Amino acid sequence: MKIIDTDIAIIGGGASGLVAGIAAARYGCNNITILEKLPRVGKKILSTGNGRCNLTNSSISTDDYDGDTELLSYISGDIENPEEFFSSLGLICKADDTGRVYPFSNAATSVLDALRFAADFAGIDTICEYSVTDIKKAKNCYIITNGETEVRAKRVIIATGGKAAPSLGTTGEGYELSKKLGHSLTKLYPALAPIRTDVGLVKSLKGLRVAADVSLLADGKIIDRQSGEVQFTDGALSGICIFNLSAKAAKYVGKGEISLDTAPTLSKEELYGIIKSSAEIRATLPCEELLTGIYHKRIGQAMLKKAGIAFSKTCGEITSKEISLICTAAKDSRYPIKGVSDWSLAQITCGGIPASEVSDKLESLKSSGVYLCGEILNIQGKCGGYNLDWAWKSGYTAGMNASLSLSE
Ligand SMILES: Cc1cc2nc3c(=O)[nH]c(=O)nc-3n(C[C@H](O)[C@H](O)[C@H](O)COP(=O)(O)OP(=O)(O)OC[C@H]3O[C@@H](n4cnc5c(N)ncnc54)[C@H](O)[C@@H]3O)c2cc1C
Repeated sequence: MKIIDTDIAIIGGGASGLVAGIAAARYGCNNITILEKLPRVGKKILSTGNGRCNLTNSSISTDDYDGDTELLSYISGDIENPEEFFSSLGLICKADDTGRVYPFSNAATSVLDALRFAADFAGIDTICEYSVTDIKKAKNCYIITNGETEVRAKRVIIATGGKAAPSLGTTGEGYELSKKLGHSLTKLYPALAPIRTDVGLVKSLKGLRVAADVSLLADGKIIDRQSGEVQFTDGALSGICIFNLSAKAAKYVGKGEISLDTAPTLSKEELYGIIKSSAEIRATLPCEELLTGIYHKRIGQAMLKKAGIAFSKTCGEITSKEISLICTAAKDSRYPIKGVSDWSLAQITCGGIPASEVSDKLESLKSSGVYLCGEILNIQGKCGGYNLDWAWKSGYTAGMNASLSLSE
C-alpha cells in the first residue's frame, strides 16, 4: 500500500476544509494534505445561493442559529469578518439590501477559484477522488485510508459536512469516521428544505408563488414566524421563509400546521372591503372570478374552495358571511405538516457532533490532535449566508489551532 506522510490531513475539500487548509498554512504549517472524495474540491460551493454563493451576512448573531450555539464563541483568528478574509484572497464582495453578501461577480465560481488559488499558492497538496473509509490512532499519528493509499497525519481536521445534498459529496461518512474516534451524534434530520403537506391541498397550485406571512403552529400556538415568498410545489410548500421553518417543523410532523397569511399588508377588515367591492363590480360573473383581481386565478379559486364557496354561484350571490370565510382562508390558510423533504432537497443537516465533545479550539475531546469544523458539528444557521459563514469561521479556527499545536 502506498504511504503518504503529512503534518495536517484535512478530510473533505468543501467550504470549511479549504479554509482550514489556508489558515493552517498561514499559521506556519507547510505540509498540509486535503483529501476530497469527489473529482474536484468545493463542488457544493458552486451550487450555493443559486449559483451566486451567499457567502455571509452583514448582520449575524446567535439568534440566527439553532443547535449548540456556544460553538459560535469558539471562533478565533483573523476570520471575524469573512468579507475581509476573502478580500485578502483577492475576492471582492457586496451586500444586497437585505444584508446577504455575495461575490461582486455574482458567480459562486469566483469564490471557489479564490479559495483554490490560495490553497495552491500555500502549497497545499490536494488529493481528489480519495474517499476516506477508515481512520485510526497509531502511536504518533493518525492513519487514514481509502483502502489503497494510507495517509499518516500528525493532526487531522474532519471537514466532511453533513448528509444534505448527497449528490454534492455529503453522504454522512464523516459521522461514521468521528464515531470511530469516540464521538457521539445528536439526532440528524434534513433542514432548509421544503415542508411536505397534503398533496390534494397544493396540487392545483403547483408552480405558483405568493408573498405571505408564514406561521408554524402547534396546538394552535405560534412556534415561529417568517415572511417571504412561498412556492407551491408537488405536495410541498417551498421558498426561503419555508426553509427557515423546516428545522422546527420537523419536530411537529403529524401534529403541527403551517398557516399562510397571503394578504400580510391588509387587515381582515380592509380585505373584507376589497372583496365586497369586487363582488359588486363582478356581480354577474361566476364566483370563481371573485378574487382574480387580487390573486393569481388559481390561488383565488383555491381560497374559495378552502372557504367552502359553491362555484355555481355568481359573485353577486356571495353573502357577507361567505366573504368573512374567504378572508379567513386568505389570512389564515392552514396546511398540515406531513414531513420535511428528504436529504436530496435539503440544504443543511440539523444535528451533528455535540459541542460538549470539542474544546474551544474545536479540537476533539475524544481524540486529541483531531479537529472538527463545518456542518458536521451540531449547529445550524437559517438561510441568508449563515451556514457558509459558520463553515469559513470554524474551518479557519480549526486550521489555525491544528497548525499552532504542531509547534507547541
Ligand atoms: C443547494 C445548496 C445551496 C446552499 N446555499 C447556501 C448559501 O447560499 N449560503 C449559505 O450560507 N449556505 C448555503 N448552503 C449550505 C452550505 O453550503 C453548507 O452549510 C456548507 O457548504 C458546509 O460546509 P462544510 O465544509 O461543512 O461541508 P461541505 O461544503 O459540504 O464539504 C464537505 C466535503 O467533504 C467531502 N467528503 C465527504 N465525505 C468524505 C470522505 N469520506 N472522504 C473525503 N471527502 C469527503 C465532500 O465531498 C465535500 O466536498 C447551501 C447548501 C446547498 C446544498
